[in-house]
Amino acid sequence: MSGKLFLILGPSGSGKGTVIAHLREAFPDAVFPISCTTRTPRQGEKEGDVYHFITKEEFKSRIERGEFLEWAIVHSDNYYGTLKAPIVQALEAGKTVIREVDMQGVQSIRKILPPEQVVSIFITARSWENLKERIVKRATISEEELAHRKASFEREMEFSKECDYVVFSEDGKIPEANEEVERIIRQEII
Ligand code: 5GP
Repeated sequence: MSGKLFLILGPSGSGKGTVIAHLREAFPDAVFPISCTTRTPRQGEKEGDVYHFITKEEFKSRIERGEFLEWAIVHSDNYYGTLKAPIVQALEAGKTVIREVDMQGVQSIRKILPPEQVVSIFITARSWENLKERIVKRATISEEELAHRKASFEREMEFSKECDYVVFSEDGKIPEANEEVERIIRQEII
């Protein structure tokens, strides 16, 4: 029997983090594999929770050792990579695996794993104005960074057409978005 890998993606500020926190509770038997990143931990982030925080040198030697299922440079400077061993082992054991990746991650994984084993769920806001409001509320951000996020949003919305599911996370309707993603996964793993 083989399990399924659910890839959660979407623009920053779209509510992915909240959805994943909900899925951890809703699917206690699912595997939430840890990825590697070269970015520095943010306040409150613990090593080994969502990421292994490693140096670029270590990341590159892990690439050479073939440890990643996929890896990508995200936002033009940091490396991110999903580890092959824990994901492949979990899928072979028939487990449900849930991981947030960027769109490059989805594209790479689709070339490696059989299509029936990979489900992509794109989470987004209704419009750029809507997303911008949330981003600005969350942290101080420069005009330049905002322009960069807008360009990424447009690229990602284009990519959403290639995803298996698109879920709109509307302001004030977080529980609805969480439940919709949960429903999609339940229906996929029957
Ligand atoms: P953050 O640094 O905010 O946690 O994540 C930044 C971006 O990196 C997000 O778009 C996230 O989806 C992506 N990301 C996180 N882990 C991985 C991974 O293992 N592989 C890829 N390709 N992207 C990832």
